[in-house]
Amino acid sequence: MFKCDLCHKITEPREKLTRHPIKYRDKVYQNNHPFKKNQVITSYGKEIIKEINVCEKCAEELKNGIVS
Ligand SMILES: [Zn+2]
Repeated sequence: MFKCDLCHKITEPREKLTRHPIKYRDKVYQNNHPFKKNQVITSYGKEIIKEINVCEKCAEELKNGIVS
């Protein structure tokens, strides 16, 4: 059981917890080139910095774009 961060209800004991990311941070990845020495590959991505716990019903609504 857990408390849903969206509807603030305590869920059923067997309900599935969904982690929903709400905050991201830009992240720069730098990896060594696999073939060329002293070359670095820079790529950009996003890193999750905050997630909330949501119940099945809210997860479904998030997926359908009803709430954000
Ligand atoms: Zn909920």
